[in-house]
Amino acid sequence: MTALKTLMGRELGRAAHLVLDCLLPPRCPSCGMLVHGPQRLCPDCFGSLTFIADPACLRCGLPFETNGEAGRLRLCATCLAHPPSFARARAALTYDEPARRLLLPFKHADRTELAGLLAMLMHRAGAPLLAEADLLVPVPLHRHRLVQRRYNQAALLAGRLANLAARPWAADALRRCRATQPLGELSAAERRRAVAGAFTVSPSSLARLRGRRILLIDDVLTSGATASACAEALAAAGVARVDVLVVARVPDPRRRQGRISSEALVHSEDADDFTSV
Ligand SMILES: [Zn+2]
Ligand SMILES: [Zn+2]
Repeated sequence: MTALKTLMGRELGRAAHLVLDCLLPPRCPSCGMLVHGPQRLCPDCFGSLTFIADPACLRCGLPFETNGEAGRLRLCATCLAHPPSFARARAALTYDEPARRLLLPFKHADRTELAGLLAMLMHRAGAPLLAEADLLVPVPLHRHRLVQRRYNQAALLAGRLANLAARPWAADALRRCRATQPLGELSAAERRRAVAGAFTVSPSSLARLRGRRILLIDDVLTSGATASACAEALAAAGVARVDVLVVARVPDPRRRQGRISSEALVHSEDADDFTSV
């Protein structure tokens, strides 16, 4: 009887999808063109994304132009000079204009349904990190920002990824305990100082975190200062290691040439590293 009910439920679900597809045919979330199924990009938009592949910095995931540029240690200059507090960071995409067309509506225009598509991109790029993770933890928003936006985009991604990778996640393990000043015009060192100590572990999560391998989830990695500050709070709570997985990363947010400038980031509030909370 239960099996019959399950089967009927599935058939009804399929029928409902067919009706919905006729009434509201799925469209590319980036350009609006009709596509074959929900949570799919059209071929042009998919082809315009810049997927990050090797060679990349072993630590922060910064893509290198060539194998030669990677050097013997395969670490970027920034990681050699100022090693981040996390073990590894990986991103699915370079944060360029096509990536912005997906991430800005997701973060600022209530397009929360994009979490499914973005999490699928992260799932592919972060497979090795996900395989080793005991717990997924989203970068938190300050409560004022959360009230303003009504959702934490990093938590939406973490929830979807947890489902895809069959890993547990803890929505409230980290808290942003103090608002930080706008970071856009600050140097890398100043940004690190600005977010240092801005995060804390919620007391109710301490037992769940101790000794575990944490995968920190966010939408965009800019300077890495926010991720490092989160990693420091988690390390103080006794976690075994912290890796970071994001949808997109800005190779050098202060570089004005190229497809995106720091000015554009500040203006559009793309990254919390660059905005007040
Ligand atoms: Zn499209
Ligand atoms: Zn690096």
